[in-house]
Amino acid sequence: MNRTPEEQSALDHVWVHSAQYDDLAQDDGLKVFTHGQGCTLYDVRGRSFLDGLAGLCIVNAGHGRAEIGEAMAAQAARLAYVSSFNHVALPTVQLAEKLASLTPGHLDRVFFCSGGSEAIETALKIARQYHVLRGQPQRTKFIARIESYHGATYGAMSVSGRARPFLNRFFGPLTPETLHAPQPDCAHCPLKLTYPGCGVACVEAIEDIIRFEGAESIAAILAEPISFSAGIAVPPAEYWPRLREICDQHGILLIADEVITGFGRTGRWFGLDHWGVAPDLLTIAKGFSSGYAPIGACVVRRAVAEAFAGDGSRTIRHGYSYGGHAVSAAAALKNLEILEREDLPGNSARLGQRLLAGLQALAHHPSVGHVRGLGLMCAVDLMADKTQGQRVTMAQAHILDGHLMRLGLITRCWDTLFFAPPLCVTADEIDHMLEITDQALYRFEDDLGLG
Ligand code: PLP
Repeated sequence: MNRTPEEQSALDHVWVHSAQYDDLAQDDGLKVFTHGQGCTLYDVRGRSFLDGLAGLCIVNAGHGRAEIGEAMAAQAARLAYVSSFNHVALPTVQLAEKLASLTPGHLDRVFFCSGGSEAIETALKIARQYHVLRGQPQRTKFIARIESYHGATYGAMSVSGRARPFLNRFFGPLTPETLHAPQPDCAHCPLKLTYPGCGVACVEAIEDIIRFEGAESIAAILAEPISFSAGIAVPPAEYWPRLREICDQHGILLIADEVITGFGRTGRWFGLDHWGVAPDLLTIAKGFSSGYAPIGACVVRRAVAEAFAGDGSRTIRHGYSYGGHAVSAAAALKNLEILEREDLPGNSARLGQRLLAGLQALAHHPSVGHVRGLGLMCAVDLMADKTQGQRVTMAQAHILDGHLMRLGLITRCWDTLFFAPPLCVTADEIDHMLEITDQALYRFEDDLGLG
């Protein structure tokens, strides 16, 4: 096995999240990166790779932004930390004010934390305590969606719809009382038979759950504007306005998980901006600092935050030592300045169209099925047999992933191929990603004997 000392050491000592050790231990299975610039990453062997996934849909501003590092260093030298339980640092105040101006509706109270899972935990706990404070302690249930991913901590894991059999087997019992509704996925709608002729059967299914469970038992509906983990199906125009109406009608809170879709990923500042809908609670992380520092938040509608006003018996029973960390706040502020200055949400809209059109032009491949996306968030169904509608297995997807990596493109390759590059990507880089994908698909189809 031909490994560098750094790769061997990584294999020996780093518990790489989620990846299977046996796969990492393959020849060239674990890459150690040293630096990055824009959309390109460089590893210890001196090779370069196009980052078609912006890390994990995180590095929206792109790699190697020295000015974010400088802002963080200056803040650390001035003041790194004050207690998040009773004080606040100046950049954190500026960041909260900035968020209040960027987010939709009357979302203007920010509860800071260190990442997406913590943001979700915060939203779930705010929702539950809110109802208790308003005299409705029986509102304990959440409605989330099948195949959703909302994080790895206990609450966030428990409301997630993905991989439930594994989660139940290893960590069950999960925290109870989440009901999972179908995803809005028109291209693969599983509901056509149950709700024939309906354009938004996915909303009707949620209404059915509410009717069956009793509206007075539901605390909140939690959903991503466009679910990444469920394959980037873009909901129909009616979906989000109807969810908003349903929540208003029944006194249910609407939580939008914009951990991935926030900060320009879909071509607007927030995913829900495409529908003109404002949630009651908005969870953010990832592109919030473009990954330069760990930071997340739950941004709360004023009327919801006001329910916590009064004496100490109403105080939120929740908090994190690192919430609103001054250095992370400085990183996020500088990141937002870059996103605005370079109009990266606009670039995401423009180059997202180029990426989507380029992926659709690969439809002649026998392994390319349905293609979809919005902004710089696109997906391609990978087919083992197009006529039978049969997707590739994970083992087959792994073969394609190997070809893509050897040709210098990092993506996520499951039975769906995902693209979410940094928002500073250029037209040439998009075209290069498409060329690599085309070549990798030919090699993959040869391996599978397709075509
Ligand atoms: N919510 C969504 C939609 C996510 O995709 C993720 C992570 O990928 C999370 C929440 C959890 O975020 P984190 O990994 O920062 O805890």
